[in-house]
Amino acid sequence: MEQHDLQTLKGIGQARAKVFARLGLFTCEELLRFYPYDYQDRRAKVSVSNLLHGMTACVCGMVALTPQETMIRKGLLLTKLTVVEDTGRLHITFFNAPYAKTALQVGEVYVFFGKIEVKNNRFEMVNPVFEPESKQGQTTGRLMPIYHLTAGLTQYAVRSAVSQSLALWADAAPDILPPTMRQAYGLCDIAFALREIHAPTAAETLQQARRRLAFDELFLLSVGLSWMKQGRQQSPGPRFTPLALSDFEAALPFRLTGAQRRAIAEAQADLTSGTLMSRLVQGDVGSGKTMVAAALCLMAAHSGTQAALMAPTEILAEQHYATLAPLLTQFGVSTGLLTGRLSPKRKKALQAEIAAGTLTFVIGTHALLSEQVTFANLGIIITDEQHRFGVNQRISLARKGQGVHTLVMSATPIPRTLALLLYGELDVSVLDELPPGRTPVKTYVVDMGMRARIDTFIDKTVKEGGQVFVVCPLIECTEDTPDTLQEAVSEQARLQSLFPARRVGLVHGKLKEKAAVMADFAAGLLHILVSTTVIEVGVDVPNANLMVVQNAERFGLAQLHQLRGRVGRGKRESFCILFHTGGNESLARLKLLEQSTDGFAIAQADLALRGPGEFFGTRQHGLPTLRVADLSVDTPLLEQARQAAQEVLAEDPQLLTHTALRRHVDALMEKLGE
Ligand code: ADP
Ligand code: MG
Repeated sequence: MEQHDLQTLKGIGQARAKVFARLGLFTCEELLRFYPYDYQDRRAKVSVSNLLHGMTACVCGMVALTPQETMIRKGLLLTKLTVVEDTGRLHITFFNAPYAKTALQVGEVYVFFGKIEVKNNRFEMVNPVFEPESKQGQTTGRLMPIYHLTAGLTQYAVRSAVSQSLALWADAAPDILPPTMRQAYGLCDIAFALREIHAPTAAETLQQARRRLAFDELFLLSVGLSWMKQGRQQSPGPRFTPLALSDFEAALPFRLTGAQRRAIAEAQADLTSGTLMSRLVQGDVGSGKTMVAAALCLMAAHSGTQAALMAPTEILAEQHYATLAPLLTQFGVSTGLLTGRLSPKRKKALQAEIAAGTLTFVIGTHALLSEQVTFANLGIIITDEQHRFGVNQRISLARKGQGVHTLVMSATPIPRTLALLLYGELDVSVLDELPPGRTPVKTYVVDMGMRARIDTFIDKTVKEGGQVFVVCPLIECTEDTPDTLQEAVSEQARLQSLFPARRVGLVHGKLKEKAAVMADFAAGLLHILVSTTVIEVGVDVPNANLMVVQNAERFGLAQLHQLRGRVGRGKRESFCILFHTGGNESLARLKLLEQSTDGFAIAQADLALRGPGEFFGTRQHGLPTLRVADLSVDTPLLEQARQAAQEVLAEDPQLLTHTALRRHVDALMEKLGE
C-alpha cells in the first residue's frame, strides 16, 4: 500500500516528524491507525445557573467587555474577561495567552470549554478552549479524541495531523473485508470507521467504528492462525509406532485417570497418522500432564526418534528430570538434562550426544532453543506451561525441528476467547479430571492482624509432619520498597529466628542453588520454604500442605490459583492462607479464591477484572497488541470474526483474490514470528 510521509502534512517539519517517530509514527497511513485511547465529551452546553464546582463543561455566552490584560510580573500575563448569558455570568482567566484578547470580540457569542471553579460565589474558568458559537464543532460541541502523547507533542498537534490525514487518505485505506462480508456481518466500511474513531459524530457511530476495527483485528488474527493450522495439517510428519499403554502404566505407582488416557489416545492418533501433530493439552494444576508427556516421549523412543521436553524454569526442568529419568530408564530410554547452568564442558558433551543421537530424550529450559543444539533425529517437541513462552519462542521451537510433532501443555485454564486466539491453530485435549484422593485446598483470606496466629499454624503444620510454602512478592528490600511489602529474604530470617528448631529454606530467581534447595525441600530436609513466585508453575512436592502468600493482592487470581496448586497434592488436608494488605476492591477479588477451586471460573473472573495484558503478563502471552478489541467482553465478536475467517479461507484458501487481506496477514505473521 502506498504510504505518505508525515512531513507532507501542514505543520510537520523535520523536528516534529522526529517527535512522531518516537511513537512509531512515520506515515499518514500509520497515523490513521493511531487510535485515540479515550474521548472527552464536549457536547453538552450547561447554563450558568446549573454549573457546579469541579464540573467540566461547555458554557455558551457573550463576551461582555474588552478582555483586560495585566502583566503580573515578567513572564506572567493575565487576561481576564466576563461572559454573560441568560442565567448568569462566567469569569474567565487566561494565563500567558496573548491570543485570547485578539481572538475574542466584544459582543460576540462563544462556546467555552473548561473546568468550573466556584470562588466567592463566582463561577470561574481558567484557560478554557473556545470557539465562536457560529463556527462550533472544532474544539467544542463534539467528542474530542485523546491520544497517547510523548514529550514535545500536544493533543492539538496530533489532532491536526490526524484530521489532515483523514481528509487526504481515509478514502484510500484498503478494506480487508469484501463488501458482501461487511454486509453479512453488519459492519461499516473502513473509511467511515477511521473517520468516526478519530472524530466521532455521535456515540452510536463511534460504536459502529469501534466494532468494525475490533472485528478487523480479530478477523486478521483468526485468518492468520487458521492459515498456520492449515499449513501444519497438510505437512507430513514422522509416523510413530503405536504403544501399548498397559506396559507404560505398569511402571507407574498409580493408574492413569480417564482424562490422561484420552489425551494420550488423541495424541497417539495424530502421531501414528503420518501428518504433523500440533496439540495442546490443557489441564488444571495437578491434573497429571507430566505423565501424558512421558507416554508420548516413550512412544517417540520406540519409534526410533528423539524427544525434547521444554520447561519455562530451571526448577521445573530439573523436577521433570528427577521424575522422568528413572521412569523412562526402565524402558531403556536414555535421558539428559540441558539447562543454562551446566558447565560449558558438560554442556558440550551433552550437545554432542544429542547431535549423535545417542541421547534419546532431552529435558531442558529455553537453552534447548540455542543454536548449538542440533538433534540427530528429533520426532517430538513438548512444551510445558506453554503460556509462559511467547508465540515467538514457540515458532523458533518449531523451526528447530521442521517436520517435528509438537505438543504444548498448559495449566492456566485459559478463558475461551484467549484460548481461541492463543491456540486457535492447535487441536486441544482437555484433562478435566484430577487424580483420585485429592482434597480441595481450604483457602482463607486474612489480614496482617492474623499474622501471629498464622505463624502458630505454620509451626503446627510442621509439627504434624507437613511442609509449608511461604510466597513473597519480592526478593529483597530496596530503598524505595514500601514497608508494607514482604520480601523473601527477611521473611526467611524472621521465620527461622521464630522457629529455631525448624529448617527454613529460601529460593528465588536470583539464587544459583535453586535446584539444591528445591531438592532439599522435596526430600523433607527443609520444613518451610520461603520463595518468590519461582515456584508458581509445576513444582510438585506432595508432602507440602500449607501455602501462605504474603501481599496476595499483588498477584493475579489465576497466578494465585497456580500457587495454591502447589499444595493439596498429597493425602493431608491442605490449606492456603492469603494475606491481604490492599483495599476493598482487591479483597473482593481474593474472596473469589475462598469460594472457588475451579481454575476455569477463576481465570474467567481474572480476565474480566484485569484484562488480558495483566492476565498473562503483557509480554508472556505473545499475542499482538489488540488496540480496539477487548477480549474480556468481545467474545461474540471474536466468534463472528472466526466464522468470517473460515468462510474466506474456504472460498479462497491461498487468499489469491483477497490481496489486501493477504498483505495484512503476511505482515501480522511476520510480527508474530519476530
Ligand atoms: P500437572 O503438571 O498437570 O500440574 P503433575 O503432572 O505434576 O500435574 O501431577 C501432579 C501429581 O499427581 C504428581 O505427583 C503426579 O505424580 C501425580 N499423578 C499424576 N497422574 C496421576 C494419577 N493418574 N493418579 C495419581 N496420581 C497421579
Ligand atoms: Mg506440570
